[in-house]
Amino acid sequence: MSRPIYAEIDLNALKHNLARIRECAAGRDVWAVVKANAYGHGLENAVKAFADADGLATIDLCDAERARNAGWTRRILLLEGFFDASDIEPLQRLKVETIIHSPWQIEILRRAKLEDVRCHIKVNSGMNRLGFLPVEVNTVYDQLTAIKGVRVMGVVTHFANAEPSYSAQKPASVEKQLSRMGRLAHSATAACMANSAGILFHPEVGGCAVRGGIALYGVSPDSHISSEELGIVPAMSLKAKIIAIQEIAAGEAVGYGSRWIAKRPSRIAVVACGYADGYPRSMPDGAPVWVEGQIAPLAGAVSMDMLEIDVTDIPKAALGSEVELWGKNLSVNKVAAACGTIGYELLCALARRVPVRVN
Ligand code: PLP
Repeated sequence: MSRPIYAEIDLNALKHNLARIRECAAGRDVWAVVKANAYGHGLENAVKAFADADGLATIDLCDAERARNAGWTRRILLLEGFFDASDIEPLQRLKVETIIHSPWQIEILRRAKLEDVRCHIKVNSGMNRLGFLPVEVNTVYDQLTAIKGVRVMGVVTHFANAEPSYSAQKPASVEKQLSRMGRLAHSATAACMANSAGILFHPEVGGCAVRGGIALYGVSPDSHISSEELGIVPAMSLKAKIIAIQEIAAGEAVGYGSRWIAKRPSRIAVVACGYADGYPRSMPDGAPVWVEGQIAPLAGAVSMDMLEIDVTDIPKAALGSEVELWGKNLSVNKVAAACGTIGYELLCALARRVPVRVN
């Protein structure tokens, strides 16, 4: 018997979200970003659901191998490129395209024996994470095309603040990054720039391709805007059951450290989900948990395998009731906000021990 906890993955939601992103991409190619085990949704599930995407984008070469083994025949892009010379063989064998963001990568290509390596030049337009400055791009292009077996496919950049809630006055606004891209953004037909927020909120961003991640999983890139408003559907629901109920007197405390203390006689439900399942231990008292159509507040510190919620005001909550930690009824962004993080982090941190049910 397995513990009563599982992550439900809705393949139709993933397909729907891809169609929605394609609509917003308005003719540009769509790379489906599937790094971190498809944001926790399972790479093989993503391969199935994103069959209509133009390509998959990931970080790890081993994902490319998994995707090919799962039958993916279209393009694959390595978002941070390769990490050392030993990556060149699988890169070519698996027909994976690579980002080039640093001179040391060009050096590795120069020394390798290449047949067909397809490169995208990463441009640092203001995020200051990876990439060459716009003024360096022509030189990099010349250096790459001088290497036998290398083909340059285009330029890519990444936005630091494409979400409306965070953007406007930031030093690296989309407007500023686009202006730094200058001719590279507008004249290079092969520019790939927008992430989910760029796709959904900045129709002015051009280029020939987009890289959609979080929105494909049905989660808004901006926690102040709901999935429904964006026409996307959450694809992961993390569910667990109530495995015990405690009736406690006022003044009694719950869990490690006795953090939560009952102000009144209380009904406490114990749920089979803990930090070893990916539910953050940093979650404070009062964080929302969905049960029997209502929101119950978290009560007490999250344990490794369990957490407790106050169901005093939810009489229907009983032994065996199914609880949603996040998903279609309770947005992962809301849950994440309760402990000062973003939905991305909770999705990616789903633990391997949590069984996955695919619908
Ligand atoms: N492109 C790059 C380079 C990324 O690192 C990411 C994700 O972090 C994405 C695209 C997708 O971003 P999002 O999930 O916000 O759509």
